[in-house]
Amino acid sequence: MMLTTHVLVGLALATPVLAVAPELGVPALAGGAIGGAFPDADMYTAHRRTLHFPVYFAALAVPALGLAAVAPTPATVALALFLLAAAVHCRMDAFGGGLELRPWKGTSDRAVYDHYRGRWRSPRRWIRYDGAPEDFAFGLALGVPLWVVLDGPFDLLVAAALAVSAVYAAVRKRLPDLAPVVAEVAPEPLESYLPDESEER
Ligand SMILES: [Zn+2]
Repeated sequence: MMLTTHVLVGLALATPVLAVAPELGVPALAGGAIGGAFPDADMYTAHRRTLHFPVYFAALAVPALGLAAVAPTPATVALALFLLAAAVHCRMDAFGGGLELRPWKGTSDRAVYDHYRGRWRSPRRWIRYDGAPEDFAFGLALGVPLWVVLDGPFDLLVAAALAVSAVYAAVRKRLPDLAPVVAEVAPEPLESYLPDESEER
């Protein structure tokens, strides 16, 4: 699933706090949005492994939610929603596609790494790949009611997430073809500084 879908899910998980304790809405929504995005900060390292903990985030979220219920402060509520959204993110990645350059081909059996069991969880492909039409539709189904309910900066965040999702979904299948082009073009100015390159000239 797209990063933006995870952010929208994080906001959706936090929104009920607005009904129960409106004064804690901002820390809840901020915690949910950041927790929803956080695991994908490993995108340029060992993606869906370094910061993806489908078991440990859930194990931490349970006592954190308990603490937030017993002692609701901005800090406990933000932490609880952060951990809950991060846990849901890691679980949801297993419902999407696998780790491969063109995930719509469905050849990878790696969805998300389970550190507790020491193995990869396989993709179920309910949402076939990140940026798939159904990924965007799911985000839209969450985003529209969120946009109605929320206001202020979170309203803008929802609108921005939907806009980014729309563009990403529209170009998703062209991205792998773009990757080698970018790689070929980008290092060229650097290449001219390499000694063996200048010797040839
Ligand atoms: Zn992820």
